Amino acid sequence: MAADDRTDVLVIGAGASGAAVTWRLAGAGVRVVCLEQGDWVDPRAYPHWRADWELHRHTDWSAEPNVRRLPQDYPVNDTGSSISPLMYNAVGGSTIHWSAHFPRFRPSDFRVRSLDGVADDWPIDYATLEPFFDLNDRMMGVAGITGDPAYPPKSARQTPPIPLDTLGATMARGFDRLGWHWWPSDSAILTRDYDGRRACINCGPCDLGCPTGAKASTDVTYWPKALALGARLVTRARVREITLGPDGLAGGALYFDREGRLHEQKAHTVVIAANGVGTPRLLLNSRSARFPDGLANRSGLVGRNLMFHPYAMVRGLFDERLHGLRGPLGCSIISQEFYETDLSRGFVRGYSFQVARGLSPIASATGGSVGDRVPWGREHRRHYDTRFDRTLTVAVIGEDLPEPENRVDIDPTLTDGHGIPAPRVSYTLSENSRRMLDHGIARAREALEAAGAREVAVNPLLRAGGWHLMGTARMGRDPATSVIDPEGRCHDVPNLYIVDGSTMVTCAAVNPTSTIQAVALYVADGIVRRRS
Ligand SMILES: Cc1cc2nc3c(=O)[nH]c(=O)nc-3n(C[C@H](O)[C@H](O)[C@H](O)COP(=O)(O)OP(=O)(O)OC[C@H]3O[C@@H](n4cnc5c(N)ncnc54)[C@H](O)[C@@H]3O)c2cc1C
Repeated sequence: MAADDRTDVLVIGAGASGAAVTWRLAGAGVRVVCLEQGDWVDPRAYPHWRADWELHRHTDWSAEPNVRRLPQDYPVNDTGSSISPLMYNAVGGSTIHWSAHFPRFRPSDFRVRSLDGVADDWPIDYATLEPFFDLNDRMMGVAGITGDPAYPPKSARQTPPIPLDTLGATMARGFDRLGWHWWPSDSAILTRDYDGRRACINCGPCDLGCPTGAKASTDVTYWPKALALGARLVTRARVREITLGPDGLAGGALYFDREGRLHEQKAHTVVIAANGVGTPRLLLNSRSARFPDGLANRSGLVGRNLMFHPYAMVRGLFDERLHGLRGPLGCSIISQEFYETDLSRGFVRGYSFQVARGLSPIASATGGSVGDRVPWGREHRRHYDTRFDRTLTVAVIGEDLPEPENRVDIDPTLTDGHGIPAPRVSYTLSENSRRMLDHGIARAREALEAAGAREVAVNPLLRAGGWHLMGTARMGRDPATSVIDPEGRCHDVPNLYIVDGSTMVTCAAVNPTSTIQAVALYVADGIVRRRS
């Protein structure tokens, strides 16, 4: 085993949050090393260039590590979960695969205990995070338009919104007929050249990586800048455990390099950015006499309170063509009409609607996220033609509440390619979330019909929908009920920080990455401040 020099800060994970923190620290003159189990992804390797591009969604470009099974992936036992966790392991992390839909949490999302008597309030609020939201927006580059009445006023977006096109305009008409809120969504996708990156060409499948770099994956946003500032990034470096010194402080990490050799990277401060599944896995695998149940786990909460955002998919079939293959796949418009609590609906908290683009050619035949296949046989072609480019999917994204039984722990037998114990995910959809989704499905059906859909099909819970991994090392003031303090430091190990999706106290009813990165930049700012 070779011992490397001690660095000021070691960051584990080079995804959405790890990239942001590394950039911020390197910019403040901190010596920072980042260990990432994946590699750089060459944009020429994205399937967009191949005739069979769409098939790769189900093989080497699946968002499910258990399907993809690349050497840099680790397996996840998700047999006890009604939702499969999705992620990508590379420089850029899951932002390589993400759709870059970029809403912020709303001010009320940080105060759900005060407002609704459930879950917990965050120890920080929207106003504290606002400068970090803005900084992150400038670094990622956001397409959008200010003035959304659902939010406090925001700073100018970097580029105009992504196009609504026929599909978005059709759905907006439906919402307008019902008098419901909608707004062109903020997306971390450039619609004009910005900051040395090119504008989106509207090719569509952002989930397979972005070959032009218009989508803000952190390999094209934060990382080039972090490296130029002197940060060191070690790829194909898989951390096995975080080491603990006799003083009870984190000393660094043991990791396998690409040849399978074990190294130690020593550090004065350690920052974990390994996502809502990878972080609890790492902590629970880092046992010692002082922490027999996993590092920083005196509360017993490491891995608990896993939140996913349950999704229901409601798809309308229209007579006219919607041009739904053009433009970024993720979300063209969002509605937050049913976002806040109204107990007369039978559940607490609420949900958003996200209007996704149409189905790609093969998904049109297989039914995509709803799964209603076009039947084979003589009538196949005729049926297919009535569906292709005539579908519009409204995703209902519900606020999951933190529940201790929903958790990540360590599987007793499963291991990754280095023999490191793999995570196991246990998750049951709560009664509150079920009622919320059912309400959302009924309202989405109304909206689609108001928009002119002649048929509506539903998937009441998307199994392959674990895009958002949150809550498994939550932030709070009380060491008995949280893992990290309001500065992002582990209560039990003061030089160990956590900055990824696992920090989230509650998960709101919007995609989390804008907020994850704002929290990461806020924590990094504190690390810098305390050093000076
Ligand atoms: C298909 C898909 C679509 C999505 N769409 C959206 C969207 O539209 N909007 C949105 O807000 N969010 C979206 N997300 C979610 C978004 O990608 C995540 O919220 C975000 O990337 C989480 O950031 P993170 O830093 O917590 O983790 P990640 O970005 O997942 O980064 C974690 C990194 O840590 C590395 N790592 C883990 N363990 C180790 C270890 N032991 N040693 C070394 N390295 C390690 C991993 O390889 C990875 O690179 C999507 C995700 C997917 C998969």
